[in-house]
Amino acid sequence: MLNDSSGVTIEIEGTQDAIDNLIDHLVTKPPPLATIDEITLIRANESKGEYTEFKIKHSDANAEREALISPDTNVCPACLEELFDSTNRRYRYPFINCTDCGPRYTIIKDIPYDRPLTTMNVFPMCEECYMEYDDPSNRRFHAQPNACWTCGPMVQLLNNDGKLIEVEDPIEETVNLLKQGKIIAVKGLGGYHLMVDPMNDTAIANLRQRKKRECKPFALMSETIEQIKKYAHVNEAEEKLLLGVERPIVLLQKRPFKNISSLIAPKNQDYGVMLAYTPLHYLLLRDNFMALIATSANITDEPIAYKDTDATKRLQKITDYFLIHNREIHIRADDSIVRHVPNLKPSHQTSIIRRARGYVPRAVMGKEAFPSVLALGAELKNTICLNKGNKFFLSQHIGDLKNLPVFNSMKEMIIHLSNILTIEPEYLVCDLHPDFLSTRYAFEQKKLPAMQVQHHHAHMASCMYENGLSTIAIGVVFDGVGYGSDGKAWGGEFLVGDYHDFERVAHFQYFKLLGGDKAVKEPYRIALAFLYDIYGYDLTELPISVVTNRADPALYILLKMAEKNINAPLTSSVGRIFDAVSALIDVRGLVEYEAQAAIELEHAIPHGVAIAQTLPYHIHDDNGVWQIDIHPMIQRIVESIQVRKGMQNILSLQFHQTIVKIVADICQRIRDARGINDVVLSGGVFLNQFILINCYENLTKLGFKVYTHTKVPATDGGLSLGQAVIAGYKIRN
Ligand code: ZN
Ligand code: ZN
Ligand code: FE
Repeated sequence: MLNDSSGVTIEIEGTQDAIDNLIDHLVTKPPPLATIDEITLIRANESKGEYTEFKIKHSDANAEREALISPDTNVCPACLEELFDSTNRRYRYPFINCTDCGPRYTIIKDIPYDRPLTTMNVFPMCEECYMEYDDPSNRRFHAQPNACWTCGPMVQLLNNDGKLIEVEDPIEETVNLLKQGKIIAVKGLGGYHLMVDPMNDTAIANLRQRKKRECKPFALMSETIEQIKKYAHVNEAEEKLLLGVERPIVLLQKRPFKNISSLIAPKNQDYGVMLAYTPLHYLLLRDNFMALIATSANITDEPIAYKDTDATKRLQKITDYFLIHNREIHIRADDSIVRHVPNLKPSHQTSIIRRARGYVPRAVMGKEAFPSVLALGAELKNTICLNKGNKFFLSQHIGDLKNLPVFNSMKEMIIHLSNILTIEPEYLVCDLHPDFLSTRYAFEQKKLPAMQVQHHHAHMASCMYENGLSTIAIGVVFDGVGYGSDGKAWGGEFLVGDYHDFERVAHFQYFKLLGGDKAVKEPYRIALAFLYDIYGYDLTELPISVVTNRADPALYILLKMAEKNINAPLTSSVGRIFDAVSALIDVRGLVEYEAQAAIELEHAIPHGVAIAQTLPYHIHDDNGVWQIDIHPMIQRIVESIQVRKGMQNILSLQFHQTIVKIVADICQRIRDARGINDVVLSGGVFLNQFILINCYENLTKLGFKVYTHTKVPATDGGLSLGQAVIAGYKIRN
C-alpha cells in the first residue's frame, strides 16, 4: 500500500472473491476519516506471488506534496471507551486520540503532515506511544498527535490574572467552579470557549453583561443525544448532523424544559447545540452536567481567542478562570453552524450557516476544472478560497475584516492555506466594492494581477458551481448588501447569467437607508424612510410605535434627511426590507448583532398557521428591468396595526409569504420572456428557513428546477467560491 499525493494505491493478490470482498469493504465501511472520491481498478498481468504480508511503503517526500489534510475530528468511540476505562493507561487523559480521531487541521504548521510539522513537535513520544505509532496493526499507527500522560500535553487551571492554580485535578476543579456559577475559558480544538452552567441565571446574566451581549444566543454542548432531547426537539436528520464527525453546532427547536435558563436564547425558538467533541469536553460533562454553555471566547467582533497569552490578556475581564493546555493551536477555527431544512431535495437538506471546524480544509468539488486563483471573499463574513482544478478549498469563517486582528488573520490564512495546499494562484479575485478591505488588499499587493467580481454574480455562481450547473440560470440573490454595477447597494436581485456574465433583470425598487450604515444597527430608520415615502411629514401623526417611540427632534431630523436626501444612500436590499418590517411591526427596532431584526421577525411567525393572505405590491417595467415596489405592502401593514394591536405574528407570516410570492411572480415573468427554467437561490436571506423552504416548494410546483446551497453558506461566507469560479472561468476561456 502506498499513501501519497494522488491518493492510496493498494496492490493486492488473491482469489477474485477475496479481492471483491476487500473492495466491497472499502466502499461500504471505509475508515472513519477516509473520503473515497473514486476507485480505479487495474488488473496486473500475472500473479507475482510475492505478497506474504501487509506492508505500507513510504511516500516520496520530494514528490509533489499535494496535501490531503483531514479536518479536526471528534474523539472516536474506541478512544472514548479508553478514556473512561480505569485500567487503561490513558484513563482520563484529556488528549487521547488515534488515527480515526483528534486534532488535524488546527495543529498543522506545514506539510507533509508529520509530527515535526505540527504543534505536537514539542512532545517527543514516550516508548509506549512510539510502539503504537510504529505498529501497522495498531489503531494509533502513524497517528501524528498520539500522546499519553507520560509524554503528551497537559491541562492547567489559571485564575483570570493568568496565575497558575495548584490543584491535583484541574478538570475536577473546573467542574466545581462551573457548579458554583463561575465563567471558565476552556481551551479547545480551534480556540477557546467560555463555559457556564446553563441552569444558573446569575452566571449567565454575568456572562451577558461581561460580554456586552444582551440577546445573541449562546451555544450549548451536551454529551449525549438523550440529554439534548430533554431541552430541544431532535429528528433523525438532526441527530445525524449532531453525530457527524464534524460535530457542528446544529440549530434545534427548543423544547420547554424548566431547568434551562431562559437567558440562553431569548426571542428565539431555537438553541444552537453541539455534542462534545474533544476528550476534555467529555471529562467536563460526564456525570456532571446535562449541558454546558459553550460560546466562542471572543470580545464582540474580535476573532475567537486561540493563543494562550492572547487569550489570558483579552479574556481577563470576561472570565473567572482559564482551563488551558500546552498543545498549541496553530490556526484558529470556530465551531461550524448548520441547520436541517426539511422539505428541500433530500441531498440538500443541510444548510451550512458557518463553515469552519470539522469541514475545513475539505474541498468543495465541482464538475469543471479551472486555473488556480485566490479569491478574497467579501468583508463582513470573510472566507477565502483557493482552487486546484475542480477542487475548491474554502478557508474557515474568518470574520469581519474591519477589525484589524481579523484582517491580519485573513492574511495569515492566505499564506497558510496556499502553503499546506501547495497552490500557487495565477490571479487574485475580489469584490467590486472599492472600500472592502479585501479589495484594497488585492490591489495593494503587487505580486498577482487582480480581478473584480460583482457581489451578487459571485453569490449566484457559488450556488451554481456547488450544484454542477454551468448553463444560463436565474439567480435570485437576496442579502444584506453588495456593491452593484451602478455603484448602489444591491441586495434584492434577480439576475440571469452564467459564470461568464450576468444581466440584472429585476430588483426591489431602491429605498433609503437613513444614516447609511447606522440604519443597519437601527432598522427603525429604514421603516421611517418607507413611511416618509408614503405619508411625508404626516407620518408623525401615525399612532404606531415605530413613530411614537421616537422623540421629537430626532424624528424630525430623520425626516429632513429623507426629504433632502442627506446621508440617505439607496439600496435594493431584501435583508434591509426584513429589518424595516421587523421595526415597523415592533419586533425589533434596534439590533445588537447582525441580522437580529430579521431573525426575530422569522421567529415571530406563528406555529401551525399554514397560510395567510399576502400583502399587496407593484411591479413596473423600468427600461426593461422590473422594479418591485413594496410601498403598498408597507401601507397595508400600517393600516393593519392601526386596526388591531398584537398583529405581529400574523403580519410576519403575511410578509414572509409576500416575499415568496414575489419570487415566484418574477421568476415566471423571466421564464415567460426568456425560457429559462433553472433557478438558484443565494444570499444570506436564504438562511431564513421559511423563505428558503417556501421559495423552493413554490417554484418547484411551478415547474422550475431549483438549486440551493448545501456545501457552502448562502451568506457572504460562501462568496469566495463564486468569485473563484467566475475568475477561473474567465482565465480559462
Ligand atoms: Zn480515536
Ligand atoms: Zn506517551
Ligand atoms: Fe452578500
